[in-house]
Amino acid sequence: MSTGRSSFWHPFANMAEVAGRDFVIASGHGSYVTGEDGRDYLDATAGLWYCNIGHGRTEIGEAVARQMSSIAAYSNFGDMATRPTMELADRLSALAPMADARVFFTSGGSDAVDTAVKLARRYWNLVGQPRRAVVITRDRAYHGMHMAGTSLAGITANRDGYGPLDDAVARVAWDEPEALAERIDELGRENVAAFFCEPVIGAGGVYPPPPGYLAAVREICREREVLFVADEVITGYGRTGRMFASEDLEPDVVLTAKGLTSGYLPMGAVLVGSKVARPFWESPGTLWRHGYTYSGHASAAAAAMANLDIIEGEGLVEGVAGLQIALTAALVPLRSHAWVSDVRSGAGLLGAVTIDPQVLSGDATVMPRLIAALRDRGVLTRGLADGSVQISPPFVITRDELNTLAAAIDASLLDLGSTRADSATGPAGRDMMPDVTSDEAGGFGSLDEQLFSDVPPHHGS
Ligand code: PLP
Repeated sequence: MSTGRSSFWHPFANMAEVAGRDFVIASGHGSYVTGEDGRDYLDATAGLWYCNIGHGRTEIGEAVARQMSSIAAYSNFGDMATRPTMELADRLSALAPMADARVFFTSGGSDAVDTAVKLARRYWNLVGQPRRAVVITRDRAYHGMHMAGTSLAGITANRDGYGPLDDAVARVAWDEPEALAERIDELGRENVAAFFCEPVIGAGGVYPPPPGYLAAVREICREREVLFVADEVITGYGRTGRMFASEDLEPDVVLTAKGLTSGYLPMGAVLVGSKVARPFWESPGTLWRHGYTYSGHASAAAAAMANLDIIEGEGLVEGVAGLQIALTAALVPLRSHAWVSDVRSGAGLLGAVTIDPQVLSGDATVMPRLIAALRDRGVLTRGLADGSVQISPPFVITRDELNTLAAAIDASLLDLGSTRADSATGPAGRDMMPDVTSDEAGGFGSLDEQLFSDVPPHHGS
């Protein structure tokens, strides 16, 4: 099949449209990447929510090269191990938001989700409650694209067209703790294995939880002995301005990937609290027949260690907490656009600008044209499942770059025909600005309290 086009089958792509029109990124530095077209682009999404330390950090390559020149990787099955793998496990255990965490490595987030579903069900088997098999997830949830994650998806379109999926899955409203309690009680708690929860919904549109939501669902799970699995594949390692978004929740299991290596090499880690780990670690006859060829890959572990050195050494998590308010200040004025139905922020360096569903349903080309207009203006981002523009830049982005990003969204919306209520004062109209007096908005209280603390109520567009 030689058509002169690349044979590369892009993930999440309509190949009939994309084939022959590959947009190739050649290099990157800090918050910017450079295309093969020679232009620099502000990376508004940190790749796919992962490049937290920014692009082009040579320390990672050097650490990986050192590891590869001794041994790139070796099997970690059974009793075998590589040293960086063990060191990384201990480092993650010390960082984890639960006591005495054990660390199971994967190749990425979807593997971590798959591992956690199997882990939860196997755990209940081992402790003599094998009927506990149902996994509960939320509307809008994204838990990766393996069969387990596809079955758990709250984004309906991601489940369509595959025939039967895992049917021991139930879904609840994303924002109502009572809905979870009711569902568990309806199903019978003796049938429910785990609740999977993104502390901040990511690919479903960047929805921080309503105040008090996380603490409430955690308590509901605790009361009913349902395992609480925090899917921190996006939020883990600093994106919300704290190392983990579930820090106050004592989760049973935490899923991480992306920010673990800032995407320099693929790797995920499942952090498992002692309650769930114990039957696996303390019953001599129990061999868990689960693992991946690259579980604990030594060179990926070396990349993760160097990445964590940068995150900790440069105070990047505290930096995110400080930038949270600057992101909100930059984005909130966009609410005055006729085409913008919502703007969300207040969870570290996560944000979204939602295009009015009526505009999108009236013209399906609006979102792709908006993304293209932004690209023309030198900003790379993408549209999310709910019709929002994703904002999740590298932690090293500056306040000026955040303003550049918001100004590009403003100008691109105007290019496409949206109008702005405050055009006299410009996109940074002071009346739309949150009352920002300090950079210290992030990093206090629980995530439940912190979210939206700096975001004024939305008065409509
Ligand atoms: N879980 C969440 C919350 C995610 O956002 C993602 C990816 O975006 C995944 C799981 C799957 O991760 P991966 O794409 O590395 O398999």
